[in-house]
Amino acid sequence: MSFDRFGRNINYLRISLTDKCNLRCVYCMPEDITFRPRAELLQDDEIERLVQIFAGLGFRKFRLTGGEPTVRANVVDIVGRIAGTPGVQTVAMTTNGLLLDKLAQPLAEAGLQRVNISIDTLNQAKFKKVTRWGDVEDVWDGIHAAQEAGLGVKLNAVVVRNYNDKEDVVDLARLTLHQSWQVRFIEMMPFGDVADFQQAGVVSQEELVATISAKLGPLSVVNYGRLDGEAQLYRLENAPGAIGFISSVTQPFCASCTRARLTADGRLRLCLLREKEVDLLTPLRNGAGDDDLITIIEEGVWQKPWGHKLGEDVIPLNRAMSEIGG
Ligand code: SAM
Ligand code: SF4
Repeated sequence: MSFDRFGRNINYLRISLTDKCNLRCVYCMPEDITFRPRAELLQDDEIERLVQIFAGLGFRKFRLTGGEPTVRANVVDIVGRIAGTPGVQTVAMTTNGLLLDKLAQPLAEAGLQRVNISIDTLNQAKFKKVTRWGDVEDVWDGIHAAQEAGLGVKLNAVVVRNYNDKEDVVDLARLTLHQSWQVRFIEMMPFGDVADFQQAGVVSQEELVATISAKLGPLSVVNYGRLDGEAQLYRLENAPGAIGFISSVTQPFCASCTRARLTADGRLRLCLLREKEVDLLTPLRNGAGDDDLITIIEEGVWQKPWGHKLGEDVIPLNRAMSEIGG
C-alpha cells in the first residue's frame, strides 16, 4: 500500500490519456491552445507498464481522463490492458461524451465500468457558449449509449457565473426527479492561462443549494453528509437520483483524498491544485527498472501536499486543467 506523510492511503490514480480535446470549454483551455507533440506523451506500452507498477503498489481504482480520453488512438485497447492488470479493481472514465455513441459498447466490453459525462447545460445555445464548439445532442446520444452498454453513469456540470448558474442548474437538478443518475455540480477552479476568468466566476455550493431548492423544493442531505468520492450528496423529495456538489475551492476534502494523477506527459501530480509533480517519463525512457520507478513513486506519494492555497492567491499556473486530467 502507498501512504503519504499524513497517513493517507493513496490508491486511486487518474490518468490523462491526452491533452487534446474535441471541445474548448471556456474554463478549461483557451481556444487557440497548442497541444504537445505525440512523442512527448506517454505511449500505450508506457501507460501499461506504469499501471502495473501502480497496481503493485496497492492502487486499485483507475480513471481515464484528459483532455478528452476518447480522442486518444487505441483507447479501447488501453482500457482493456488496464482492466486486465492484476490488482486493478475499477476502471472508470471522465468524458465529454461526444464519441460515446460509437465507443461506449466496445469500451464496456474492454472492461470499462463507469463514465462521468460532462454536461454543463441542457440548452444548446448555452452549451455552445461554454464549450465553444459543442452540440448538446451529441452528449445525449453518448449518455444513452453508455446506459445501453451497461456502464454506470454520473453527470458532471462545472458551474460558471452568468453562463449556467441559474435555470441551467435547476434543469440539470430536475433530471434526478426522473432518473437514478447522480448529477454533480463542480466548483470552478483556477488554473494556468484561464485563471482570471475562473476566479471571477466561482459559484459556491451554498448559492447553488439555494437556487435549486427555491425552484424544486428542499434538498435533504444523503448519508449524513458523508462524501461519495469527492461529492457531498443531496436528494430532492421522492427523487430516484441524487445531486452532488464537488466544492474543492470552498470546502476542500483533503483529509479524505486518496488520489494521485498521471499527466499525459508522464508526470505524477500529487494534488490537482498544487504545482508539485514528479517526472516519471524521463526515467522510464532512460531505462529505469521497476525498483527504481517504485522508489520514485513512493517518494513522490510520501510528499503529497495537504490543501490548496487559493485563499493566499497561490494558483497553479504550470498547467491547464486539460493537461493534468480533471
Ligand atoms: N474532457 C473530459 C470532460 O470534459 O469530462 C475529461 C477531462 S476534463 C478536464 C475533466 C473534468 O474537469 C470535467 O468534468 C470538466 O468539466 C472539469 N473541469 C475542467 N476545467 C475545470 C475547472 N477550471 N474547474 C473545475 N472543473 C473543471
Ligand atoms: Fe475538453 Fe473536457 Fe476541457 Fe471541455 S473540460 S475542453 S471537454 S478537456
